Amino acid sequence: MHSPVRNDIERVLIDEAVIGKRLDSMAADIEHDFPEGRLLVIILLKGALVFAADLLRRVPHLLEIECLNVASYHGGTESSGKVDFLDRHFPEVRGRRVLLLDDILDTGRTLRAVQDRLLTEGAAEVRTGVLLAKDKARAEEVEADYVGFEIEDEFVVGYGLDFMGRYRNLPYIGVLKRSAI
Ligand code: 5GP
Ligand code: MG
Repeated sequence: MHSPVRNDIERVLIDEAVIGKRLDSMAADIEHDFPEGRLLVIILLKGALVFAADLLRRVPHLLEIECLNVASYHGGTESSGKVDFLDRHFPEVRGRRVLLLDDILDTGRTLRAVQDRLLTEGAAEVRTGVLLAKDKARAEEVEADYVGFEIEDEFVVGYGLDFMGRYRNLPYIGVLKRSAI
């Protein structure tokens, strides 16, 4: 199977069918936990885009969707631990029950910072959901309420997650070949 994207992948960690099955049960958990609906879902761009689109289409509630762009510094600059909010407008969250979705929980800085900001802005409740959570100690004390998969502490791409802006469109979670990095 020739595919310029697929050629850069060393191995598939979680395939499409497995992700789909897991999203079915995450959606069922969300439906169960918010029986009355009325949720405001906040998607962290761009990483959670694919995950959120597939998850939310499985949730039958009346819900509203907002997106936020944040920059969290990683790799070489991980030490700063600073999370910047890049949008000019912050969604109106006062009194709302919020479900915050991100692609992956790593150090925990992003979820911690966004959750704190939502509460500062008056959200009544903030629950969090991630497709992936790395099995490691977090820099910030935070865990997600809904976790798709726990993975080892290695760098993954696909299904919304990028390396240098690429690979978000892979339909599965994979590990890059060294030659692609
Ligand atoms: P945290 O703030 O929890 O350290 O990191 C969250 C963000 O770091 C994620 O939203 C994601 O953008 C990025 N990140 C962390 N680990 C990985 C990874 O293994 N692969 C990719 N592509 N991004 C990651
Ligand atoms: Mg990212």
